[in-house]
Amino acid sequence: MPAIMKTKPAYGAELVEVDVPKPGPGEVLIKVLATSICGTDLHIYEWNEWAQSRIKPPQIMGHEVAGEVIEVGPGVDTLEVGDYISAETHIVCGKCYACRHNRYHVCQNTKIFGVDMDGVFAEYAIVPAQNAWKNPKDMPPEYAALQEPLGNAVDTVLAGPIAGRSTLITGAGPLGLLGIAVAKASGAYPVIVSEPSEFRRELAKKVGADYVINPFEEDPVKAVMDITDGAGVEVFLEFSGAPKALEQGLAATTPGGRVSLLGLFPRDVTVDFNNLIIFKALEVHGITGRHLWETWYTVSSLIQSGRLNLDPVITHKYKGFDDFEEAFELMKAGKTGKVVFFPHK
Ligand code: NAD
Ligand code: ZN
Repeated sequence: MPAIMKTKPAYGAELVEVDVPKPGPGEVLIKVLATSICGTDLHIYEWNEWAQSRIKPPQIMGHEVAGEVIEVGPGVDTLEVGDYISAETHIVCGKCYACRHNRYHVCQNTKIFGVDMDGVFAEYAIVPAQNAWKNPKDMPPEYAALQEPLGNAVDTVLAGPIAGRSTLITGAGPLGLLGIAVAKASGAYPVIVSEPSEFRRELAKKVGADYVINPFEEDPVKAVMDITDGAGVEVFLEFSGAPKALEQGLAATTPGGRVSLLGLFPRDVTVDFNNLIIFKALEVHGITGRHLWETWYTVSSLIQSGRLNLDPVITHKYKGFDDFEEAFELMKAGKTGKVVFFPHK
């Protein structure tokens, strides 16, 4: 079968022919129906510092997936052939202090498929049964594959009340766009988005942003104050990983407001904690991964509710993997929302 593989410790990846794997104990083999590119896959493709320290080529890439179980390994009693599943990509140990406090999303022994082992950019892939999430049969595969990053967005947006609350989202990359969809579906108003890329500001509008701001051309803090009659936003959701956006977002948040931080900063950031957080009594949440399994229930229900505007987020669909290099380069250039592959042509 064809698979996108990180074959060597260098820029790029290769489309290779590999054997269909056999599921081991506790595993299932799935026919991959849809799989989407995550920012992490791009880091592996580009071979950045983090990838160099973590990835051991050769390895099949990819982790966001929807597929059909076609073979069940020994000892699996929770899944059957024919089940339609997605997958939580964090494989948690279940034994550490965090896991024993039901904080599986911060398990200190987390392994990730497509990062620490072969992934899902292939026609068939192995999924640990404990990580499988059963989907309703009528959920389109491209939505089902998006549930994993949607879980990040849901944990960011719904870390506190949002209905009827003014909300600032900084960064409208694939995750920020999903965040806009979740915020709108949850009744946030107005949803204000700060994003320098014109292409992504347009996408943000299509997903449902009420106002978009180019932070390189106008001061987002002033813009937010104008929109909110000088109050600032109730909720600030950081999806960019840009230090400047963090500072501007905190400044634009109303005293007593709520902040969720998902974006990962490239270096240590300096912020005026006294004036931007402490004296404003902001409620600040760090967000990582997804709550197991509460977040998956929320994501699945939000999709089934029909209220999540996901179609404008999915900007590129590819049949097969032949054009995978184009897909990665477009994503690298910021010219995409989510990119989805349908491996079986
Ligand atoms: P991305 O890089 O595609 O999107 C970031 C967006 O921020 C881009 O569109 C960029 O134009 C915009 N941006 C840059 N400077 C800005 C500024 N000053 N103000 C406003 N916007 C600005 O990334 P993504 O895939 O959408 O992921 C978003 C962030 O979430 C990344 O930092 C990623 O590393 C992080 N992330 C965190 C977790 C977690 O568990 N915490 C999981 C996945 C991704
Ligand atoms: Zn653990």
